[in-house]
Amino acid sequence: MPNSLTPQVPRVYKVQPGDSLYKIAKKFGTTVKSLKTANKLTSDIINIGQILKIPSLTLPEGIYRIGSTGPQVKALQSVLVSFGFSIKVDGIYGSKTASVILQLQQKSPPIKADGIYGPKTKASLQTLIDINFHLVSNPTDLLVLVNRANGLPAEYIPSKLVIPNIPFSFEGYDPKKQMRLEAAQALEQLFAKAKQDNISILGVSGYRSYQRQAQIYATNMEISPTKAQFSAPPGGSEHQTGLSMDVTSASNNYQLSQSFALTPEGQWLTQNAPAFGFIIRYPQGKENITGYQAEPWHIRYLGTQVAQLITQQGLTLEEYLGK
Ligand SMILES: [Zn+2]
Repeated sequence: MPNSLTPQVPRVYKVQPGDSLYKIAKKFGTTVKSLKTANKLTSDIINIGQILKIPSLTLPEGIYRIGSTGPQVKALQSVLVSFGFSIKVDGIYGSKTASVILQLQQKSPPIKADGIYGPKTKASLQTLIDINFHLVSNPTDLLVLVNRANGLPAEYIPSKLVIPNIPFSFEGYDPKKQMRLEAAQALEQLFAKAKQDNISILGVSGYRSYQRQAQIYATNMEISPTKAQFSAPPGGSEHQTGLSMDVTSASNNYQLSQSFALTPEGQWLTQNAPAFGFIIRYPQGKENITGYQAEPWHIRYLGTQVAQLITQQGLTLEEYLGK
């Protein structure tokens, strides 16, 4: 069964030059047979550009360690191979399998790194699966789509991070004050307009690294696995793009909460953000498209043209990009 800690998303793959069903099956840790079944293919012929459904990888339930054998171990090994580890898919949990599990655990604190596969390791592997399937290929693109189904690579850090000259809800240096240069400049203009209109808004949180999101996600998972599904998995936070900022006001007690939408500042933001290139990224009523509850405080930079178009047409970024 798919893991219930992370939302399941449809997985698809576009056939690239040089691909074969065998290569694709190997890449995703599945088999030619299940690829053919999932896509109702009657032959092995595939075409460049063809969209294939990828059957879900199945991580086994249970606890496995050195000496364990059987089809569950084999299923686990297939998943590890799909991550690019070169191990034998022989159904025998040997020292090689254990060392790969250990490596993955070391990357996912606070999971105990003991080389033993259990429920927590499974949950963290599921996150890796979800992210790996939809690693975005255009992280620097101003229109990059990052959500639960499309993740940024762990190593992606925007190249020009600066702290916008705006009031924040807290004092002192913090990396989360940063934004990508283009977005920071536009944000300064938005805040200048707010000041002109006697509207007092404050920045709360901008850029967030992959590692920071991984910590947040792991902490949520530790506190409550069901709560983890409300936070973005590592790579899946739009804040990693450096193009987003959470905004609040004194009238909302400096909180990021639904009530911000009802304050004059929240309403001003909704009305004025698009002219400066920002959209309210997670609007009310679009939860099943964005994958997030409404967040009236979270704005995303897209440039004025696209931001205004999306807002006028009542779209989300997902709908605008046709995803
Ligand atoms: Zn946010």
